[in-house]
Amino acid sequence: MSARVVRYGPEQLEGLPASFAGFLRRATEEVGSGREQSWSKAVSEFNERVPEMALPGLVVQPWLFDFRYRRATGEAVGRFLEGLKEGRIIGTRCEGCGRVFIPPRSFCELCFRRVRTYVEHSGEGEVATYSVAYIGTNPRERLARPEVVAVIWFEGTKVVRPNSHHVFHAAGLMHKLGEVEPSEVRIGMKVKPVWRPKEQRRGEITDILYFAPVR
Ligand SMILES: [Zn+2]
Repeated sequence: MSARVVRYGPEQLEGLPASFAGFLRRATEEVGSGREQSWSKAVSEFNERVPEMALPGLVVQPWLFDFRYRRATGEAVGRFLEGLKEGRIIGTRCEGCGRVFIPPRSFCELCFRRVRTYVEHSGEGEVATYSVAYIGTNPRERLARPEVVAVIWFEGTKVVRPNSHHVFHAAGLMHKLGEVEPSEVRIGMKVKPVWRPKEQRRGEITDILYFAPVR
């Protein structure tokens, strides 16, 4: 047996509200991007291995759910996102251990105390770890120019305890690196944020285009 995939053609879309028809059309295009074959193959193989599952006419119905979420960011992250709109990196500083949290947190897990002091940070930091990615959002295409994704630790956000060989760092931000060849990237490399033009910022992490080396 083989699985069959139902597609939405113009005749099914006719008469539907434009937004809904557009959604179904996109869903159909998504199915055409290669998942259809893998679905079909997986279902067929599964049915061959387990005879009880050999249904005579199984129809695979691919379906995309379009969820829109709305959530409260809370005070600390809310201030951080507001800051991004203005091209500012906002963090919180623990009055106990002195660490700066970026993105900001309202509690210090080392000192067990509330953190209420907001500080503006230069945004300069170092590459804590990184990965050179040759695969983007479409896993079937190799990127001609790889993306470098890195975790950034900001200056003043870590506490080194030499006697215990521990480095405590206050989170960090995962972002892209730019203006640098993948082969030049090193752990510990100093970087700074490069901002999207002000009128295009929306209070999102992508208001920072990427982090670039401090030259
Ligand atoms: Zn602390």
